[in-house]
Amino acid sequence: AKKQGKNRFYWFEDTMENELRFRNQLETGIRVGVERGEFVPHYEQQVDIATGKLMGFEMLARWQSPKLGLVSPDIFIPIAEEIGVIGDMSESLMRQAFTDARDWDPSLTVSVNISPVQLRDPWFSQKILKLLVECNFPPQRLDIEITESCLHDNIGVVRSMITSLKNQGVKISLDDFGTGYSSLSQLRSLPFDRIKIDRSFVSELKDEDASSKIVSAIISLGNGLEMPITAEGIEDDRVLETLKGMGQMKGQGYLYGRPEAADQVRKRLSSAGLL
Ligand code: C2E
Ligand code: CA
Ligand code: CA
Ligand code: CA
Repeated sequence: AKKQGKNRFYWFEDTMENELRFRNQLETGIRVGVERGEFVPHYEQQVDIATGKLMGFEMLARWQSPKLGLVSPDIFIPIAEEIGVIGDMSESLMRQAFTDARDWDPSLTVSVNISPVQLRDPWFSQKILKLLVECNFPPQRLDIEITESCLHDNIGVVRSMITSLKNQGVKISLDDFGTGYSSLSQLRSLPFDRIKIDRSFVSELKDEDASSKIVSAIISLGNGLEMPITAEGIEDDRVLETLKGMGQMKGQGYLYGRPEAADQVRKRLSSAGLL
């Protein structure tokens, strides 16, 4: 028994050590990757669900790591926030996205995800506006997605930054709506232009189940507040048909397509006459 315990101890220590080493490799990889421009935008279609008309794209970050291959943002975004490189990473991604999207049909919008950490930077809105000018990208085509966790600290500062962006025509969406605590009070705290219903309510949606009642309630809330809705995570036709019965909205999800790299988006737009 003693021997077994000893082995297990070594195994445990070994795992900890490996985990630590992996974590260090990730941190270094991310730092270096930001400098080398390894973080690239992919784009997910956003569609008017009634007509199927393409309205724009959500930019989703991908890390093309020479060592690890294509890495998901759920892995690298939290680390980038912790080690203080999220601002530089986001700036590089937005520069690429604005440059890509400048060539697209001007009716098409670009949504970008902004981390709560970025909203603690007092120069946040100035940086975005400067980037828009530098890339010659119209602020009216930019939509910034923020989650409820952005709204917990220094709401006054966040509000004034958001207001200066909105004054230039940038739109602000409340992302992942329904998942955080005290969601409803967040709707009052900032002048949002749009509510995005979290995909956990949408993916499994069926007529008359609990999710469909929640989604209907969010839609009426949006109507009452004059905030249009985007439903995310539409994976199949049945969900789409159910949503169509609930009102006007934008939708996105694997039914319309997986997020694609810029050159694939170009091909798609070119065959649709939107380039
Ligand atoms: P999100 O903003 O909620 O983005 C939607 C996520 O759902 C994306 O995952 C997308 O690929 C995935 N998705 C889209 N349609 C479907 C569907 O029909 N079914 C399912 N199961 N999933 C679907 P992704 O690209 O892995 O991004 C994960 C999260 O990472 C994003 O969640 C967002 O919070 C964050 N993120 C991505 N890019 C950035 C970025 O540039 N900056 C920041 N701060 N966060 C980012
Ligand atoms: Ca989002
Ligand atoms: Ca979301
Ligand atoms: Ca999410």
